[in-house]
Amino acid sequence: MFFKDIIGQDELKQQLTESARKGVVPHARLFCGKEGNGGFQLALAYARYLNCTGRSETDSCGVCPSCIKYNELAHPDLHFVFPMVSNKSAKKEVCDDYLPEWRAFLKEQIAEHSYFTIDTWLGRLDSDNKQAVIYAAESDRIIYKMTFRIYEANYRILFVWMPERMNDTCANKLLKFIEEPPPNTAILMITDSPDGILGTIVSRSQLVQVRPIQTEALTKAITDIWGVQEMDAAQIAHLSEGNYFKAMESLAVDNDDAYFLDRFKVIMRNGWSRNIVAMKSFAEEMASMGREKQKKFLTFCQRQIRENFIHCLHEPSLNYMSKEEADFSKNFSPYVNERNVMELMDELSLAERHIHQNVNSKMVFFDLSMRIIVLIKK
Ligand SMILES: [Zn+2]
Repeated sequence: MFFKDIIGQDELKQQLTESARKGVVPHARLFCGKEGNGGFQLALAYARYLNCTGRSETDSCGVCPSCIKYNELAHPDLHFVFPMVSNKSAKKEVCDDYLPEWRAFLKEQIAEHSYFTIDTWLGRLDSDNKQAVIYAAESDRIIYKMTFRIYEANYRILFVWMPERMNDTCANKLLKFIEEPPPNTAILMITDSPDGILGTIVSRSQLVQVRPIQTEALTKAITDIWGVQEMDAAQIAHLSEGNYFKAMESLAVDNDDAYFLDRFKVIMRNGWSRNIVAMKSFAEEMASMGREKQKKFLTFCQRQIRENFIHCLHEPSLNYMSKEEADFSKNFSPYVNERNVMELMDELSLAERHIHQNVNSKMVFFDLSMRIIVLIKK
């Protein structure tokens, strides 16, 4: 990953390259922003740039010995930590056990100019709908990697994707390294939910706020990469709120949104009509999806509630809905109002939290439907 491959974010690119050239390399940086904004990609390009021996003012050279190893994501001083699903029988217990799959996955994403989320990665693993986390076992690997000598790089990189999914033992180990950093080591963390990270880790890291991609840059990327007409590309860029992953999703033919919208209509109608039988079968259907998808659905519902509330305010410039969503909203939006909007949002985010905490999902969705009965008539 080079800086030139990243969509927009010119200001951040400049800050990162300039500080590296000045030799200002904080031992921990936390790239913080929605997954589709490019934080992961920026961190990876930055890691390469720190170690490139032929770098220019704006990017790595691609041909020096360090870059050649970065091309393969196989530099001996580049260590990856990422959420995974442990599988004892297949001897997959720490991230290194997944390195071949991880490298293949990243190389493919880079080659296809694609941004991704945890779901994309989990789609590659035989995850069996289990939650992906960073296990306690990973901390021994981290200690080993950080106390061992640096082979050849200017900076040893510990690249931690989604530190919020770290087991506590592991997070405390990481904190120790951030507090007493081994020499010439840069810990690069990428998150879209800093609230889930140990506060002491956040406060000791240099924050890199990765904001939504600038609309103009995103429009250009959609035109260049997908060959979409500029006017359509501008519309997609606007709807995706500066998030290239979302833009890719709306461009892809088979996306979950149509299904989610359909299910959103069902859960709301069930609540309105107090149809307990339908609520039960709805809960069963939801429970049959993987947890990551369940959470995604609940996030989708929260967005719908927000958009429908805004729709009532008649502020089209603040509305981000697809045509299908807007059609439904014409009739549905009056039911979302100042008397229930906060509670609806709270219930949906509570359900999402419960799914995350492995609460029985059939119960979560049934319970949620029951609460909607009361709220939707307020
Ligand atoms: Zn180079």
